[in-house]
Amino acid sequence: MTIKCVRIEPCMQRQEDPTWKFALADYPVIEGWLVAIEAADGTIGHGFGHSLPHIGSSYHGVRAAIELLAPRLIGRDPSAIESILADLDAVLVGNNPAKAAIDCALHDLTAKRLGVPLYRLFGGKGGTAIPQMRIVPIKAPEMMAAEAGRLAEKDYRYLKIKLDGDRAEDLARVRAIRKRVGEGVHLIADPNQSYTPKDAISALPRMEELGIELVEQPVKADDRKGLELVTRSVAIEADESAASLADVLFLVSNRIVDAISLKIPKLGGLRNTLLAAQICHVGRIRYRIGASFGPRLLAAQAAHLAASFPKLDFACELAEFDHLLDDPFEGIEVRDGTITAPESPGSGVRLIDRR
Ligand SMILES: [Mg+2]
Repeated sequence: MTIKCVRIEPCMQRQEDPTWKFALADYPVIEGWLVAIEAADGTIGHGFGHSLPHIGSSYHGVRAAIELLAPRLIGRDPSAIESILADLDAVLVGNNPAKAAIDCALHDLTAKRLGVPLYRLFGGKGGTAIPQMRIVPIKAPEMMAAEAGRLAEKDYRYLKIKLDGDRAEDLARVRAIRKRVGEGVHLIADPNQSYTPKDAISALPRMEELGIELVEQPVKADDRKGLELVTRSVAIEADESAASLADVLFLVSNRIVDAISLKIPKLGGLRNTLLAAQICHVGRIRYRIGASFGPRLLAAQAAHLAASFPKLDFACELAEFDHLLDDPFEGIEVRDGTITAPESPGSGVRLIDRR
């Protein structure tokens, strides 16, 4: 069985709250591309190519990269995923979100043709329901506390507080949220690179006193030494500093951070993200799947992967689809603050027929 054709369609999703923002950017509309890879027997696999300008992939750039790579897929066996991905890496350096769309579509197609849920391709399911963490976007402290309270009432037990590097305001944000949700909710913070190492070392321990259990990417992505210094003060998770498999290997082998947020678009697909998890596992660095905005398709594919990880530390962030409108897929939802990988073949979500 071979690949017959590859189709690319725009995928635009409005934010329910158009003022949703974090320290690096605000995206009132999440933009990307839906890739459909069709086999000669008519089976179709889907993947999502995320436009992430703040990490270097523009909307039109993602499409151009997929268009460059797509002809390489025609006539190939879609289950020869390793060999196809190696060829794509040889043709085009980087462009991980575009490669992730192709990788995800190949996995979806292969699992559908085998009649098995996606997680079976990654070694099978370990746990069942995966606890989810929700993001509280940057606003004034009292507004963030109200949003945190709303999420806690929806049974989320893990929340991530976005910060912007204003030390006094950030502390007020954490304090207001802790007061609103009480002690029973796990809290982490994500300043998205907005602190200098010195400011982070002075400010973050005070947040730790309020029960912040982990701080994601406090300093610039390329400031590995700064990241290492801050890690001596509080528990630190790398996000933007872990933008490739090579980055993950460096951070783990040099024990720069305590944890790594793994994301399918930035790492170039499910295959690379599984490998990154295994590198972390062997190096005894904590890992989980972080937030990548997009349709339920991407959340489902991430849930299949997370379900197969040898050990999942903390909650994942797969539930952000809950505040995006215009989702072209259905078939996966959050239950009691958790997500479970679907049991139907492939990714387990369905394209909504809007005709
Ligand atoms: Mg982050």
